Amino acid sequence: MRFDIMTLFPELVTYVLGESIIGRAQKNGTIEIAAHNIRDYSEDKHRRVDDTPYGGGMGMLMAAPPIYNCYEATLKEADSALASVVDGEIRRKVVFMSPKGKVLTQQKAKELSEYDNLIILCGHYEGVDQRIIDEIVDEEISIGDYVLTGGEIPACILVDCVSRLIDGVLSSDECYECESIACGMLEYPQYTRPLEFHGVKVPDVLLSGHHANIDKWRTEQSIELTRKMRPDLIKKKEGEN
Ligand code: SAM
Repeated sequence: MRFDIMTLFPELVTYVLGESIIGRAQKNGTIEIAAHNIRDYSEDKHRRVDDTPYGGGMGMLMAAPPIYNCYEATLKEADSALASVVDGEIRRKVVFMSPKGKVLTQQKAKELSEYDNLIILCGHYEGVDQRIIDEIVDEEISIGDYVLTGGEIPACILVDCVSRLIDGVLSSDECYECESIACGMLEYPQYTRPLEFHGVKVPDVLLSGHHANIDKWRTEQSIELTRKMRPDLIKKKEGEN
């Protein structure tokens, strides 16, 4: 899977995604992440990428030409990088990170993990010229009902959560299937050494070595926690049964 991120701040996404599990997955070639600086594609002698909105109003808008030029170059680069890896037509989606989009869910991440190439556009200022969205974007995705300064942090969130679902990114003991939300419930509480911390001991059952009892305790804890913190998930599960 290859991710191409079109942004005004490539260093930001490269740095965030270069660490930990996602950084390791890039190093071992399981995923590829390329950041493209939209400013490099400005035709303006001052490398401007924004302008005032027609009709007036607050702030600046990212103009269409530099984004489109960047998109064309990104397509070429992605096509040639994937040519030797993908058999047949490249399954590709162009996503615009936007508070107007549908809110990202684990299910959406799973769906996106089936593509060969995700091209992600990050907005800034007041957003981007609508003609770019109409011409190149397949889907607008939001990371939540709040507004951020730019699409870079949302893009990193999208790449991280999609990457975790790609074969080979997580080792088997980091498996995502039994994690909160992915399994439809919240995960049970977990403990590690020391045995006692600030006067609180690890629950006895976890020290018993009795695997059936441990599994039973974890299931009960998971149900209790989900009921308390996310009753909507319990309702959804009951609706499925
Ligand atoms: N004027 C826009 C509006 O009201 O819809 C908001 C622009 S926001 C300040 C700048 C950029 O940050 C957006 O174009 C988008 O790329 C990104 N952004 C902000 N909030 C986001 C969210 N919740 N999810 C995804 N991207 C977001």
